[in-house]
Amino acid sequence: MGVGWKRNDPRTFVGRGANPGHGSSPNIAKPGDFSIYGKNNQATNAIDANMFRRILIANRGEIALRVIRACHDLGIEAVVVYSEADRDAPYLELADRKICIGPAPAVESYLKIANIISAAELADVEAIHPGYGFLSENPHFAEVCRECKIEFIGPPQEAMRRLGNKSEARKIAQSAGVPVVPGSEDVIKDDEEALRLAHEMGFPVLIKAAAGGGGRGMRIASNDISLRTGLNAARQEAENAFKDGSVYLEKYLENPRHIEVQILADQHGNAVHLFERECSIQRRHQKLVEEAPAPRLPPDVREQMCQAAVRLVQAAGYQNAGTCEFLVDKDNRFYFIEVNARIQVEHPVTELVTGVDLVQEQIRVAAGEPLRFKQTDITLHGSAIECRINAEDPYAGFRPSPGLVTRWDVPGGPGVRLDSHVTAGYRVPPNYDSLVAKLLAHRSSRPETLAVMRRALKEFRVEGIKTTIPLHREIMNQSSFIEGTVDTGFIERYWKH
Ligand code: ADP
Repeated sequence: MGVGWKRNDPRTFVGRGANPGHGSSPNIAKPGDFSIYGKNNQATNAIDANMFRRILIANRGEIALRVIRACHDLGIEAVVVYSEADRDAPYLELADRKICIGPAPAVESYLKIANIISAAELADVEAIHPGYGFLSENPHFAEVCRECKIEFIGPPQEAMRRLGNKSEARKIAQSAGVPVVPGSEDVIKDDEEALRLAHEMGFPVLIKAAAGGGGRGMRIASNDISLRTGLNAARQEAENAFKDGSVYLEKYLENPRHIEVQILADQHGNAVHLFERECSIQRRHQKLVEEAPAPRLPPDVREQMCQAAVRLVQAAGYQNAGTCEFLVDKDNRFYFIEVNARIQVEHPVTELVTGVDLVQEQIRVAAGEPLRFKQTDITLHGSAIECRINAEDPYAGFRPSPGLVTRWDVPGGPGVRLDSHVTAGYRVPPNYDSLVAKLLAHRSSRPETLAVMRRALKEFRVEGIKTTIPLHREIMNQSSFIEGTVDTGFIERYWKH
């Protein structure tokens, strides 16, 4: 079934004019007014004659809206795809055209390459922005785009392939002199090899899927028996999720911090970092709160991590926006774990503290523009925190809570940014990720940012669905979070519900 699916149904292929004034929607509060553009560097906001005219957005929800906004800010037409489950979503009206690509299940719509390429051809776009999740890190999709002469707004498929295999990515990191978590040099051949390596590095060890993501195919093993059972379970889970059951071993670090470095690289050999994000507040390896800069990170460690990230992406031939993830131990030793070859959910944190519009930069890089700033042009401004608001009940094991949103009163005022596709009357579909909003605060110091976030969380009133807002209110008042001494064990230790 190509995108010609229901081609004669006028409802599914109706294009709507965008409202260019919508960028000033009341749910967005502008962050502090500073810009690295147009100062003593070549960066200006002038739109290049070689820029794309029309882009297809192969995603949904808040990231689809985020890319629509970036397109319109650059004077580019935005075409958005949608599944039947999203047909009434209000953000679709903000695109210049919307195209239905199939029924609710993602495998029949947002993951269906043939349908997305047909939509791109139908709309005559020059480029596709994949957002995050879905096809964003699928090298085959990037390859198909290239064959169809459509620019994929992301890294080249070769770099994506190399880094998509985490075991390979570890080798690239090592070759670039970037420290990795002690572990196996390659994927594991058999259980005996795994046992030998685990004894060499000492238990506990972490079994990880080479093709892994989203915490899938990951198991902790603390002895021979749990290693054998863990290997089987991880291989099975990885095979089901990624059609690749290969696994490797890492030493399991006790409650490290998760700190990642944002990078941008162009097609002309230039690469810069945009500093780090602390993402240690996680539940089941899924991030809940992110912030920049990482509290209490010594400046020399920050500098070393950021430089390591740049070396690594250059060694991998990487282009576009990407993230190098590191674990940091109690002595501030850092270890590379993986590269996320896409824009990340938490990218607005970096946008707030650097003033760089990362989605616009992604588009510019894909259009062949050289980076418009040098490393020394990028500086940190203040502190930013993001709370991921999910349609989940934090008091009932984070059970998903899809359904009709009957009240959606959003916060605003100084220092607040809200990225969300939700409005009152919107029905959160049960089929996809439960993220309904990203609430951000940005001020010149961390205590001020915390105060704004607490105030914004108080102002945020949602009814009809359960959300993680009450959990965030608690986190923002928890003493170790306030002190900036959290690690990845935070939620398990302090959240007993
Ligand atoms: P995925 O891509 O599946 O999300 P990652 O490699 O990014 O997996 O790891 C996700 C999270 O799992 C990390 O943020 C960290 O909390 C935890 N983790 C990963 N590797 C280790 C390790 N070697 N020791 C301890 N925790 C780890």
